[in-house]
Amino acid sequence: MKAVLYMVIPCYNEEEVLPVTSGLFLEELQLLIEKEKISEESRILFVNDGSKDRTWEIIEGLARENPHFIGICQSRNRGHQNAVLAGLMEAKDVSDITISIDCDGQDDIATMEAMVDAYYDGAEVVYGVRSSRDTDTFFKRFTAQAFYKVLMRMGVETVYNHADYRLISARVLKEFAGFKEVNLFLRGMIPLVGFKSTSVFYERHERIAGESHYPLAKMVNLAIDGITSLSVKPLRLISGLGIGVSVLSFVGVLWAVITQICGRTVTGWASTVCVICFMGGVQLVCLGVLGEYIGKIYMEVKARPRYIISERTWTKQNEDEEKG
Ligand code: UDP
Ligand code: MG
Repeated sequence: MKAVLYMVIPCYNEEEVLPVTSGLFLEELQLLIEKEKISEESRILFVNDGSKDRTWEIIEGLARENPHFIGICQSRNRGHQNAVLAGLMEAKDVSDITISIDCDGQDDIATMEAMVDAYYDGAEVVYGVRSSRDTDTFFKRFTAQAFYKVLMRMGVETVYNHADYRLISARVLKEFAGFKEVNLFLRGMIPLVGFKSTSVFYERHERIAGESHYPLAKMVNLAIDGITSLSVKPLRLISGLGIGVSVLSFVGVLWAVITQICGRTVTGWASTVCVICFMGGVQLVCLGVLGEYIGKIYMEVKARPRYIISERTWTKQNEDEEKG
């Protein structure tokens, strides 16, 4: 039996990009249908993430023109991760496989065929991995590398150079639906579901038009969110730091006592001020780390809906707010 594929495509202010990439997505879908790899029931599902431009109008237009295009609209901008989740949950009961992919043409659309093949070969999760970062600037390459290294060091299991271009089977999606956390970091959460996985490699292209929504500050936030929502290693590091500083201060005290006994006094207020400032800094950093976790707990206990869908192209009517 041919699998029903849902492409899940988050879109935020992409009016310049969508008219071009929607054609490419459709071409790929039709190619896969012609090759009898996926069913005619397969769909290209756009998730409008509260765009402020004409993105939703374009999606509605596409849905009117071709039944393979469908779209859902979030009631406001919630961010990339929540948009992908909204699409995945929408596809959960109607698809056999989903492929999440950015709508800007950066992820190589033609790689989907290799992903589908890997699924038929038995993989339940297929990660799209960038084979090179030649199109990135040196700065982006450097920060991206640091991003993955820090994540791994901090105990977050991710696939190196994999972003959010991935195939997951209905089986994995069903299990993943049980992950109810509000702080989302999909590339760290999906590996936790388990099952057989594999990677396919692709060349990452330039953005077709428009600008990235992920400048450095957002990348740093994403990394901090990823680490603190998936690992408690930083808390252990604080304990380690505390022990280290205690040992250091014990040595200091010992040294002060010995020099006193030997008839010399440790002098100078400068050294005292330095130690106080150093300790103040260390304590504030540790408080900051603790604060990150408390903030995460605060958001988790509220358990607010992770997305709210205001419209679907196929119902053509506003729906009541839906809980995610
Ligand atoms: N995106 C989204 N909501 C946001 C920001 C981005 O749905 O708040 C979508 C965006 O339209 C694109 C994908 O997420 O399809 C990745 O964003 P972008 O290309 O800006 O990030 P980059 O590829 O530069 O990391
Ligand atoms: Mg992009």
